[in-house]
Amino acid sequence: MDEDIDDLRAETDLSGRTVLITGGAGFIGSHIAEALVADNEVRVLDDLSGGAREHVPAGARLVAGDVCDPDDLAAAMDGADLVFHEAALVSVEESVENPAACHRINASATVDVLEEAREQDARVVLASSAAVYGHPEEVPVAEGDPKEPTSPYGIDKLALDHYARRYHDLYGLETVPLRYFNVYGPRQNPEYSAVVSVFFRQAREGGPVTVEGDGEQTRDFVHVSDVVRANLLAATTDRVGEPFNVGSGRSVTITELAETVVEVTDSDADIEHVDPRPGDIRHSEADVSRAREALGYEPRVSLEDGLRELADAQGLR
Ligand code: NAD
Repeated sequence: MDEDIDDLRAETDLSGRTVLITGGAGFIGSHIAEALVADNEVRVLDDLSGGAREHVPAGARLVAGDVCDPDDLAAAMDGADLVFHEAALVSVEESVENPAACHRINASATVDVLEEAREQDARVVLASSAAVYGHPEEVPVAEGDPKEPTSPYGIDKLALDHYARRYHDLYGLETVPLRYFNVYGPRQNPEYSAVVSVFFRQAREGGPVTVEGDGEQTRDFVHVSDVVRANLLAATTDRVGEPFNVGSGRSVTITELAETVVEVTDSDADIEHVDPRPGDIRHSEADVSRAREALGYEPRVSLEDGLRELADAQGLR
């Protein structure tokens, strides 16, 4: 998986750049930092509210600060020519409890990042989300399909997505919003109900692995190395100012996921059904044809391989 990223680094010629990764001490941001640090000056702006200092790779500079703070942001952005905007309040539940805080971090700070990018004439690749679609009318869901987000998190990600595109149309800024589906992989924080990391923790602890509702709901799980590849492609594409779905293009039921996690971790944990989550989205699957055609994005890691790798990394097999 890492070899693929090495190849892509060579193909996309991302070198000698000054790169800022907001949220770069977190799960996805730290993998982007890792892919770029050898050939570029990489800075990370992160308040460490969800990420960790030790996730920032050696050679990258951590600016421990708040993306909502104009001074912290200006200092981190100074001289940057490429920005990956990953910092966010990432919990949907927390966004429901505190929509104003979510709006400040996920929407307002995005406008601040885009404004600073105008100053620096920097390209911005932004972390949007499948949450913009709400309950899809049909799957797989394509970029032009209806968007009815069901949470403040989804609403603010849709605002981010719109701002990114309009900053391109109105001001000529090079922006690429990427709508991530369910990302999983090493260093994911199980606190935010990320189902893969929760199932791994439960399997590790001997179970039970808890499936919400009937388990027939489906999700598109995409490995973080594929998401990094999408980001590197977005950093150099000519197709700026339009959004791209970033998923695996396949979906599995949550029950299938639970069974695979139990199998790859060699666990004897039971799978138990608990109450459904209110408002849970029934089906989610990305149509990745636009990213495939425009960016040359090809998801490479199968769910089974990705889960096996995680189990190996955690010494569970
Ligand atoms: P994460 O929590 O691991 O990373 C987010 C990082 O942002 C953390 O390191 C956190 O400390 C930092 N941060 C939060 N508030 C900040 C602030 N005010 N100032 C500076 N830093 C701040 O989460 P992740 O899964 O790596 O998510 C990265 C991005 O991808 C987010 O924008 C998230 O909404 C988006 N996304 C993730 C998924 C997924 O499945 N993981 C799916 C769709 C979209």
